[in-house]
This record gives sequence, C-alpha cells and structure tokens, in this order.
Amino acid sequence: MKTCRECTLCCSLISVRELNKLQNQQCKYCSTNGCFLFGSIKRPPVCTSYKCAWLFNAAWPELLRPSNCHVVFEPFRKNFVAAVDPRYPNAWRIGAAQAAIEYMLKNGKAVVVVISNEKHVLLSEGKTPMQVWNDIDGVLKEYGRAKLRN
Ligand code: SF4
Ligand code: SF4
Repeated sequence: MKTCRECTLCCSLISVRELNKLQNQQCKYCSTNGCFLFGSIKRPPVCTSYKCAWLFNAAWPELLRPSNCHVVFEPFRKNFVAAVDPRYPNAWRIGAAQAAIEYMLKNGKAVVVVISNEKHVLLSEGKTPMQVWNDIDGVLKEYGRAKLRN
C-alpha cells in the first residue's frame, strides 16, 4: 500500500479551514516526519480523510508522487485539479506531470491548474467551457479555501 512517506506537499499547498491555514502556507503541525497530529483527535477530519490522486491510485508511478513532480493532483467531480508547488511554477508543463495532464485531457477530463492565485483551465478536444462549467466553477470557488475530498 502506498504511503505519503517524505511527501508533505498537500500540507503546504492546500488550505485547511479548521486550522486557519492558508493556501501555500506550511502547516504548523507539519514536520519532516509527517503530521504531528497524526492519531490525535485534534487532527481535522479533512486531513484524516484526504488522499491525493497519486496516493489513491495504486497504478500511478513514483514519478508522480507530489514530492517528485511538484504537483498535487486531486479528482474533483469528474475532472481534476492540479495544484502546483509555486517554487516550481512550470512543473505542470514538464515530465510526468505533463504526461499525466495530457492523458487526462485525452480521456475527456478537464484539468484546472492552480499556481498560487493563477489558474489555467485545460479542456479536452471538442469540449466547451460550458460543458464542464459547473465543475470548473466549483473548483474556482472552493479551491484555496478547503482541502478537497475524494
Ligand atoms: S500530496 Fe499526497 S502523497 Fe503528498 S502528503 Fe499529501 S496525500 Fe500524501
Ligand atoms: S494537520 Fe497534519 S495533515 Fe493536516 S495540514 Fe497540518 S500537517 Fe498536514
């Protein structure tokens, strides 16, 4: 079974309302050994239940581990969010992350790339923004305010 191991990227990129932790702010409970609140009732439920797409999908390779590719992919309804580590703003355009995005687009998914306050909406061929607007609008509204759940 996959484990986060040294990766803690979601604990900085994604906001956690319950902790008043902002997007792109390192959580004060985050250490190189993982979460200080692991196993504690103080750990927000959203953190306990959270799994990025790499952790959730056994088939996704090590190259797509967020600490390696610098992108946290999350399923959002029928589409995906790609949250990019702002220290590596072009990470989504190269290597395994780029290949994953191309694969998603080829399979009819929309991908919303989030780099701090910058967002790019990528659509698969033949799709119009109106067809996926409800999902995209949900991402644009929710992202940055709360960890998204699977
Ligand atoms: S980004 Fe994924 S692999 Fe990394 S700590 Fe979060 S859930 Fe674990
Ligand atoms: S409480 Fe733990 S799991 Fe949640 S964001 Fe902070 S370090 Fe990560």
